[in-house]
Amino acid sequence: MEDDPIAARCDCGAVAGPLGVCADYYHAILAEEQADPQMYRWHAPVVCAYLLQHPSRAHEKYLDGQFRQMQLYLDKGLDALLRVAAHQVARNRHGVGSGYDMAPLAAYEPLPPGGPPRHFRATFCGLPFRDGSFVSDGHSTYGDRIEAIVGATVESWRSVQA
Ligand SMILES: [Zn+2]
Repeated sequence: MEDDPIAARCDCGAVAGPLGVCADYYHAILAEEQADPQMYRWHAPVVCAYLLQHPSRAHEKYLDGQFRQMQLYLDKGLDALLRVAAHQVARNRHGVGSGYDMAPLAAYEPLPPGGPPRHFRATFCGLPFRDGSFVSDGHSTYGDRIEAIVGATVESWRSVQA
């Protein structure tokens, strides 16, 4: 399967899954999480990991902040990431400025030049989709899978600087 020349490939290098390429999985996740607040907790890691794996669809100026947010998530967990994200929203609402407040993210590595990576060991089109759902085997299992994708994303970006 991995070497099947007929199989469709996503621009992140992954072989398409039953739903299609990563964009198809991404849009299916966004649709399902809208109706599931527990699943929506992983919205920020889903968006950041998707954009970092497919940077041609992203705004380049935000990728550095997104890369740092994913390091914070792996380092301190989802609650810490959600606190930083809530702070960003409040800050933007008060008109303090646009874009990210880098202070909580300053300790983390900047996005390495030379990307994007050509391979990630965990991808969106590798996510299992059963009974019309991404969370059919539980939200914590889904969260573990998203965390694995984030880990793979940070790992591959770090490897491009070598
Ligand atoms: Zn992809």
